Amino acid sequence: MAGERIFQGTPVAPGIAEGKVLIHFQEEEVIPFRDVPESELDAEVTRFEGALLATRKELQELQVRLTESAGAGDASIFDAHLLVLEDPSLIDEVNKGIRTHRHNAEFVFQGVSHHFIKTLSAIDDAYLRERALDLEDVARRVIRHLLGKSGQRLSGHDRNHIIVADELTPSDTATLNRGNVAGFVTEKGSKTSHTAIMARALAIPAIVGIEGICDSLENGDVILIDGYSGKLFLNPSPETLYVYQQLAQEKEHIEEGLETLRESDSTTLDGRHIILSANIELPEELDDVASCGAEGIGLYRTEFLYFNRSTPPDEEEQYAIYRQVAERIAPQSVIIRTLDIGGDKPTECLDLGEEENPFLGCRAIRFCLLNPEIFKTQLRAILRASVHGHLRLMFPMISGREELLHAKSLLEEAMEELRARGEPFQADIELGVMIEVPSAAIIADLLAKEVKFFSIGTNDLLQYLMAADRGNERIAHLHDAAHPAVTRVLKVIVDAAHAAGIWVGVCGELAGDIEFTPLLVGLGIDELSASAALVPRVKKAIRSLDLPACQELVSHALSGDRAVEIYARTTGIARTRYGDLF
Ligand code: PEP
Ligand code: MG
Repeated sequence: MAGERIFQGTPVAPGIAEGKVLIHFQEEEVIPFRDVPESELDAEVTRFEGALLATRKELQELQVRLTESAGAGDASIFDAHLLVLEDPSLIDEVNKGIRTHRHNAEFVFQGVSHHFIKTLSAIDDAYLRERALDLEDVARRVIRHLLGKSGQRLSGHDRNHIIVADELTPSDTATLNRGNVAGFVTEKGSKTSHTAIMARALAIPAIVGIEGICDSLENGDVILIDGYSGKLFLNPSPETLYVYQQLAQEKEHIEEGLETLRESDSTTLDGRHIILSANIELPEELDDVASCGAEGIGLYRTEFLYFNRSTPPDEEEQYAIYRQVAERIAPQSVIIRTLDIGGDKPTECLDLGEEENPFLGCRAIRFCLLNPEIFKTQLRAILRASVHGHLRLMFPMISGREELLHAKSLLEEAMEELRARGEPFQADIELGVMIEVPSAAIIADLLAKEVKFFSIGTNDLLQYLMAADRGNERIAHLHDAAHPAVTRVLKVIVDAAHAAGIWVGVCGELAGDIEFTPLLVGLGIDELSASAALVPRVKKAIRSLDLPACQELVSHALSGDRAVEIYARTTGIARTRYGDLF
């Protein structure tokens, strides 16, 4: 057996997983070109028809699985895909192409499908443009079957597989669950990329940022990944397996200990209660919220409703989902964040346009203000659901007061529309904003007059503060919460909120990073919201801290100039008080 090799990456979701490598290619396949002799033309046509049948079977299986996990509505996206496979003009043209030009099926098929896609996308009609996207997706599947690479789809595998990819999109990750994958590893990404966030939400051990790993591994290789330290072992030795078996048992023991905290308060040793809530992306996570001991939901990322489908969800569909979430979490509250699409969260169902810099582009509230009908559809759905529980509303990516006032005026319009329809809603629904753009942090005092709460999105706030793409592993070190600028900016936000008499939470990944809990507690943060999987750890951290020690840390951080020192101090407290969690 080949010897053990170790690779180091960035750990992003805790846990240990052992399994067989499954490489997932994002990029376009390289299409081979061959002349086909006359005698083999029939066989080539049959090979093409076989690939169509195999794709059909694959799509039908996906549809069944999606119906089980997400409902028939979401699964219906595959109906359009299946229709593409029956399109006689496409099939005839490929068959004719193979016979007349005597070229291999993948080459002819790619040419024909590209031509169809180009023609459809050029027509100014939203429906036909969507069909072009369907065709693109289906064509990729057919080509993979022709190339014999059909085993590389993400879902449809089992617990024995670890997905290895250059990069996974949030919509890729949304199709994963603990039942169909043991873990995943990517070359790109960082702790705050949405793929990493999903991994934590789904409690799937994951490592990102291992450059070149796709080339170093082959499908079927046996690997072990350590989601605590970021180590990947290829062909783990018996010693390594033994060490990790022990570690897994130890971690299980600690997790069991944390479970006993479920009913206890997230209150410091000296009596300061910090609200501890959970972040969710999908309603499927509601069970985890209920069992993790969180006080409600501090961030519901509604954009995940818009993934993996060709048309956006309408008001009724959204209302049903928000209502389900509200009812399930009541009497505790749910903070619903309005659509935060764009950046690293593209979706096929909305036309975001091509942009040079999507992270600095027309994303989140900017897109919603430019598309008021899409925005108001969501607002009406949230407002209608608000009578079924305790909902709060939050706008993402607010950068200035005018933007906030514009969004508020559309909220008013949505309310008027519901009044006109005679639909009940909570007119005094609490409104908050995310503070995740530096300009918003600087004018937090002005924004505080307009809302009932702030929630600090540290993922984007750090990205824009440091001018460092949150998904780029090469500059991940710049996403350093210990940078003195971070403590300073957080202090500005907290002070502005408290001076205006409103509360302030953190819902970025920093809220779940127990190395920084002492700093956040010392700053006077009122609420922390993290992935359900991390909530018990954060609760233990809060319960092990006292205010004077945390406040002293903050005064050092405010007067100090070195990130390493701030880091050493906050982790020093963390390791002394709850070292067993590391
Ligand atoms: C953030 O930016 O910190 C945040 C919570 O929002 P998202 O990660 O969804 O961008
Ligand atoms: Mg954000």
